Amino acid sequence: MPELPEVETVRRGLAPAMEGRVIDRAEVNRPDLRWPLPEAMADRLTGARVERLRRRSKYILADLSTGESLLIHLGMSGRMLVSGVMLGDFHLDHPAAQKHDHVVLHMEGGARVTFNDARRFGAMDLVRTDREAAHWLLAGIGPEPFGNDFNEAYLVDALKTRKSPIKTVLLDQHVVAGLGNIYVSEVLFRAGIDPRRAANRISAARLATLVPLIREVLTEAIEAGGSSLRDHRQADGELGYFQHSFRVYDREDEPCPGCGTPIKRIVQSGRSSYFCPACQK
Ligand SMILES: [Zn+2]
Repeated sequence: MPELPEVETVRRGLAPAMEGRVIDRAEVNRPDLRWPLPEAMADRLTGARVERLRRRSKYILADLSTGESLLIHLGMSGRMLVSGVMLGDFHLDHPAAQKHDHVVLHMEGGARVTFNDARRFGAMDLVRTDREAAHWLLAGIGPEPFGNDFNEAYLVDALKTRKSPIKTVLLDQHVVAGLGNIYVSEVLFRAGIDPRRAANRISAARLATLVPLIREVLTEAIEAGGSSLRDHRQADGELGYFQHSFRVYDREDEPCPGCGTPIKRIVQSGRSSYFCPACQK
């Protein structure tokens, strides 16, 4: 499942192909992905100019000149490919059409954006841009981790009544947008907080350290994604997946980079958590 940095990397990779360009033709090759695609989707996209490409949580939003926004969610298995443009030092030629190319946008100037999703856990919808906040997939999502609304006072207040483990609470999209399993493990390691600790039993001073650490971990991952966009590994035009080194995530029994104690893996709410039992209290 792509997390916020991967989605941000996809957005940055799509922007040169989409922003400021008209969708000359939209191919919509099936009626549904995870959920039904919107009525008359191809007609509503064709001829529209993409004014801006944004990210909200793990969703990409293409604001159109028609007053609608195209909402894109990659789901578990969705892949975005760009072609007919430069990506880093590479000119990406159009690939042959593939099975599972469900939506293809032919952009003004010859670029092409292809959404391929073998398992169809992804989603797309069209929403009036001025009513976006009420869309059922976006309503109730908490503040963006890089936004001004996400700050120490907010986090202390949001967590003071939460008795669940801090790991579980930080994964709750109502608390903060876009944080997923990988980066929460990394953040809690850097903060020295045991993922099992009840959120409301952590001092305000320790909680306050989470805000800059969340930004630091996400920023590093977004930078790693940015370098992957300039890298030959992405020369096939597939966006969003990149090599990134983790300090604890997926490193069970390997030595903690801080103290050498073997990293421990436990399961919380059905998801693996990785942590150092010596450094994290
Ligand atoms: Zn350690």
